[in-house]
Amino acid sequence: MRGTSKRHADLADVFNADEARVDWHDETLWFVRTKRDRATHGLEEWESLREVASEVKHHTLANLSTYLEEFEQQAIANGVQVHWATDAAEHNEIVCHLLQKHGIDRMVKSKSMLTEECHLNDYLADRGIEVIDSDLGERIVQLAKEMPSHIVLPCIHKKKEEIGDLFHEHLGTEAGESDPQILTETARQHLRDTFLTRRAALTGVNFAVAETGEMVVCTNEGNADMGAHLSSIHIASMGIEKLIPKRAHLGVFLRLLTRSATGQPITTYSSHFKRPREGQEMHIVLVDNGRSRQLAREDFRNSLKCIRCGACMNTCPVYRRSGGHSYHYAISGPIGSILAPNLDMKDFADLPFASTLCGSCSNVCPVKIDIHNQLYKWRQELVKAGYTDKKKTAAMKLMAATLSSPAKFKLAGKLGRLTLRYIPFAVNNGLNPWYKGREMPSPPKQSFGEWYASRKKEGEG
Ligand code: SF4
Repeated sequence: MRGTSKRHADLADVFNADEARVDWHDETLWFVRTKRDRATHGLEEWESLREVASEVKHHTLANLSTYLEEFEQQAIANGVQVHWATDAAEHNEIVCHLLQKHGIDRMVKSKSMLTEECHLNDYLADRGIEVIDSDLGERIVQLAKEMPSHIVLPCIHKKKEEIGDLFHEHLGTEAGESDPQILTETARQHLRDTFLTRRAALTGVNFAVAETGEMVVCTNEGNADMGAHLSSIHIASMGIEKLIPKRAHLGVFLRLLTRSATGQPITTYSSHFKRPREGQEMHIVLVDNGRSRQLAREDFRNSLKCIRCGACMNTCPVYRRSGGHSYHYAISGPIGSILAPNLDMKDFADLPFASTLCGSCSNVCPVKIDIHNQLYKWRQELVKAGYTDKKKTAAMKLMAATLSSPAKFKLAGKLGRLTLRYIPFAVNNGLNPWYKGREMPSPPKQSFGEWYASRKKEGEG
């Protein structure tokens, strides 16, 4: 079942089989989280920046259609060709059509979680078009035929020795070579050749400014610039929620984004793309793919404020110890668990339950999304819609009935203690998921209520 399962718990079991990897994954992400803390605590105005960003996004989402139209008009005036895609299929068709029209069968792509969401690489590969991911982490997972496991650190689940093996197999490095500097240099040479020989480049979009029709792409490797500047066709794929009204707002978001993501004060490259160079074509594909539906869900609308910094993943105890692939969706972690059920409630019904609801995600979110509250609300929605495990739902109903009646509660306690004392195998077995990771406690002689009553009696006597 595990090989084909699409349940977070089963996929987490696969990741958890390698305990050393789990510890190392946990520690590495916590290290990124502490870097984020140092970068944010040093900034007096951090909380007001978060507040402003949240309000700007709130305003933009409340007036999304107006800003989208303004952005489209400005972009067209800048010489950009604008396309609208209702869903992933339409987005992929548009990109494919643009490439086929120019007879292009190879394209370089900089990091774009939207194209992961739309499964663009597979779609184009099926039509004979090769996509080379140019972000180093993305290229590594592409060579490994895997999905990114983190939205900012796509190959954070891989050790350098595994990357060395991949590079030996695909890029011809020495067997056993795992020196990060040598591997990075090899990737740089390999990608440089890719940049120089591809005529089309696709980039994601971090922010799009309605006022000017420009897009901003943030990278640490400069790969978006290399791809876009050396290509004759630049396609930018953008979710419709990426808009901000004015260029003046960019300062707020750029200061928040990288500090939250990696603890850097600013991204190495914050590249502005406004108009095509002479002889170049520039296209923007504005993608909905369920975003309008999420906008209409009042309880979950705020999730569209997300600027994809990954801070909620780095801090999440469940993500850190279950790995990004256990979420079986392009965007993993707490925010992915809110976005995914919007696309398919049945397929992703398990994800909002992959949380302790500790609220650490909401505390670090730079745009103040109430992530843990939304996860809790999704649980209620999913139970109402009947998409949750029937056994679990029945057990919860039984539990509610027991806890709401003192007599039933006392009886259940007594039965539980008797079971643990005389027939412990009834609960200490493989059918009990709790038993997999922990011993059941030894039964107390009496309940707290009984102990309290006896003490009181002794005191009175
Ligand atoms: S939900 Fe917040 S913390 Fe998580 S990726 Fe989005 S912006 Fe970052």
